Amino acid sequence: MHRFDPSLQKLVNDMFETMQVANGVGLAAPQIAQSIRVFVAAYEGQEVAVFNPEIVKAEGEERGTEGCLSIPGYVGENIRRATKILVKGQDVRGKHIRIPAEGWFARILQHEIDHLDGILFLDRLDRPEDLHEVTEEEAEEKATVKE
Ligand code: ZN
Repeated sequence: MHRFDPSLQKLVNDMFETMQVANGVGLAAPQIAQSIRVFVAAYEGQEVAVFNPEIVKAEGEERGTEGCLSIPGYVGENIRRATKILVKGQDVRGKHIRIPAEGWFARILQHEIDHLDGILFLDRLDRPEDLHEVTEEEAEEKATVKE
């Protein structure tokens, strides 16, 4: 995407709203049927909207549990993600930005960037038994994040 026009701010606002209504911590445009390379994420006071994101550095590996707004009723366990990443991209006006992230925030960003490439946490399960059906309440407890 090369053109950054004012309508993108509305898209970003809509995405934040959709994410918040669903109690999510991240949302990628393909999840609302928009084929634009952008995601939004909000976690512990950090709020970002990143266009054309790219992971330019990744360090370490950790396993964790993930839920997904596109896969309601399920969580995946032992999903491997880099511990520490650096994401390069553009903000809503097209300005180049760099976002360093660690731990959960890094996991959320990796999950969202996967969405832009059509990859779901299901594709990252090492073992089928790591997929669990959960109620809404259990999902909140177990995953702590829906992305
Ligand atoms: Zn997701």
